[in-house]
Amino acid sequence: MSYVYELSMSEVKIPRKKTPKRVTSTMKKEVIQACDYLQYTLPFSCEDCTHFSASNETCTLGLPTEHHLKRNQEKSYFLSGKMALCRFQEID
Ligand code: SF4
Repeated sequence: MSYVYELSMSEVKIPRKKTPKRVTSTMKKEVIQACDYLQYTLPFSCEDCTHFSASNETCTLGLPTEHHLKRNQEKSYFLSGKMALCRFQEID
């Protein structure tokens, strides 16, 4: 047997470096068609939601609002054509 074969079949485990955990989770963004954005009045931001407290820009459900604020949604849309839609949004 060759040395390489024996080495490959041996039970010696080489310690591997683990990938560090991400600091923040990624936000999935949805593609919005430009014709839909222009044609319809879409409720896409926290400012359109009943759970939004405008005085301090927080969500009464305790969700992070940073990605769903109107200014950030519009910036994201104009740059990439995508928005981070909130699954818990409620409109009156
Ligand atoms: S439920 Fe979603 S859209 Fe509504 S305020 Fe909270 S984070 Fe914003």
